[in-house]
Amino acid sequence: MIVRRTLPHRERHTIGAWCFADDFGPESVVMSVPPHPHIGLQTVSWLYAGRVRHRDSLGNDQLIHPGQVNLMTAGRGVAHSEHSASEGPLHGLQLWVALPADRRTEPAGFEHVASPPRVQGGGWRALVLVGEFAGVASPVTTYSPLVGAEVSLRAGATALLPRRPDFEYGVLVAHGQVAVDGREVTPGPLLYLPPGAGGTRVFSEHGARFMLLGGAPFRDPLVMWWNFVAGSHEEIVSARADWQAGRRFGAVPGGEPVLPAPPMPTTRLRTRI
Ligand code: MN
Repeated sequence: MIVRRTLPHRERHTIGAWCFADDFGPESVVMSVPPHPHIGLQTVSWLYAGRVRHRDSLGNDQLIHPGQVNLMTAGRGVAHSEHSASEGPLHGLQLWVALPADRRTEPAGFEHVASPPRVQGGGWRALVLVGEFAGVASPVTTYSPLVGAEVSLRAGATALLPRRPDFEYGVLVAHGQVAVDGREVTPGPLLYLPPGAGGTRVFSEHGARFMLLGGAPFRDPLVMWWNFVAGSHEEIVSARADWQAGRRFGAVPGGEPVLPAPPMPTTRLRTRI
């Protein structure tokens, strides 16, 4: 399966607390991700097409459809598996949100939103997955000022999307082509918008759908390795050892063999911020 990883990038590690963005499909493939652990982050799953079954070590077993949100808070540790549960094309995003340093050891949790709140303006409408957009808030738990919204633009419409001046943003196009403040964006690359502006002018000749990610710039020390987000090398080493020893993370129902952790690099992991 072809996955486009636009975050972290060499020159851009985070957008707000968003620290990882994988964009997959549309492609007719079988997704099969065996049980694997996470710490220090929240995973956000979002589909444009297909269905995925999520199972985790808290006992949750949740099918996710396009337009629904699965949000898992890893905190000190959780494990999950993800498998496609449909024939035909699979298209979606796997996103991670870094937890602030003082919330990294929160208990793990899982939230499913079957029908995220909607908001619309002239020429556009949006589903608010995470955080707040245009005065409408998603019910999922967040730990930093953040937004994740799927925006649909009407063909031929020029729209002014609201933007918080203290937020930085990223745009990931799912369908079509959109000009964002005059810059053309198509599926694939991530467009970065620095803080400072109060609004963003968007235009699409034939209509478009895109994910808008944003947040207040993330300032805490951040070490990322494999499926772990932490504040130091030592926290990662300890999480890896616990996963390999079958401690801390619990078992994912289904009896599947778990994904072993890769070997640690021989050098110390360094903070990205
Ligand atoms: Mn995962």
